[in-house]
Amino acid sequence: MDFRTRALEALQETIDRRRALHSIAETGLFLPKTTEYIISELTKLGIPYKRLETCDGIIGIIDTGKAGKTVALRADTDALPITEETGCDYACKTGNMHACGHDAHTAMLLTAAKLLLEAKDKMSGKIKLIFQPAEELCSGAFAMAAEGALDYERADAVFAQHVGWLYDAPAGTVCIKRGAMMSAQNMIKITVHGKGSHGAEPQNGIDPIVTVSNLILSLQTIISREISPFDNAVFSVCSVHAGSSYNIVPPDTVIQATLRTYSRQTQKFLLERIKTVAEFVCRAHRAECEIEIINDLPATYNNPDAADFICDLIKRLYGEDSLVIMSEPSMVSEDVCVFLDDAPGAFWLLSTRPEEGAYKNHNPKFNLEESVLHKGCTIMAQAAFEYLTGDIEFEK
Ligand SMILES: [Zn+2]
Ligand SMILES: [Zn+2]
Repeated sequence: MDFRTRALEALQETIDRRRALHSIAETGLFLPKTTEYIISELTKLGIPYKRLETCDGIIGIIDTGKAGKTVALRADTDALPITEETGCDYACKTGNMHACGHDAHTAMLLTAAKLLLEAKDKMSGKIKLIFQPAEELCSGAFAMAAEGALDYERADAVFAQHVGWLYDAPAGTVCIKRGAMMSAQNMIKITVHGKGSHGAEPQNGIDPIVTVSNLILSLQTIISREISPFDNAVFSVCSVHAGSSYNIVPPDTVIQATLRTYSRQTQKFLLERIKTVAEFVCRAHRAECEIEIINDLPATYNNPDAADFICDLIKRLYGEDSLVIMSEPSMVSEDVCVFLDDAPGAFWLLSTRPEEGAYKNHNPKFNLEESVLHKGCTIMAQAAFEYLTGDIEFEK
């Protein structure tokens, strides 16, 4: 099956799908117009689907009718609350914008599904098409998993991709890495409760500002003193809020911080240490604290065998020049990790950075080089086809 030629022939319809989705950009867990569009395209293709109830996640199934493995292909479908400034004629006018290229991910997956349908007789097993909302909130994959999306037609392998200007490579290049690909992320809120007093009489209060000053310095030493220099982790306190006047010791201080790590073990260790240090530093200053771990996103981890499989496939399809092995993981986070935690697989970045006038993802002028989208369709379809037809196992 020559997916490369078929994807090129189908480029215009991929672009049309992307533009149709672009003009109806929606954000969050519920995307009524986007969902209606995806469902109508799946229906036109004759692909049965399951629509989830607790979010607008959709799972399409291509069943070859022959026993075999199941491979999942995932696309995220949501946009951002950004007022578009591209000036293009298919711009979204609602104040939402596909400024991260999820419109292209969805369009490419629909085209890949069409090409795979054409090759259905040559494969055995099933292809699970995952359309996931709320990636930008890092909640869509969790919502889908909570409703049983991982167990429904359980996948043996997962593939997903992201477009944009995420790594400095020319359009059409694929950037990938074995192992940790994108960082884990935790948002942490610590509220320190002291006791308010007159600024001239601190002995009558418990000062949460002095407590937090000590706390921030103590928290900063955890990574430098307790984590191997060969491991990677970042902890940043990014907001400190307290007080209202020059002569009042306030009762509380709130700090917000972000933690980025690559191994689940380091992530768990640091979260525990942050809790312990916060508790004891506060106690040393007679204050009390509440710690909220707002989100707990693991790192996006590429199974080494699956990453090698994708690299080999890209070299065969488009040559060595089309592949960049990333020297270090990205600090951006992605909730595709929920699927990659469940089944081995790989996630790659397809550069769609225009030659001129390029803007980064999440910019109101974000644009993409549509002429390379056929590559994303081909790689997805080819990966699924080879996984189902070849004797391929990714060691967990
Ligand atoms: Zn994004
Ligand atoms: Zn994105």
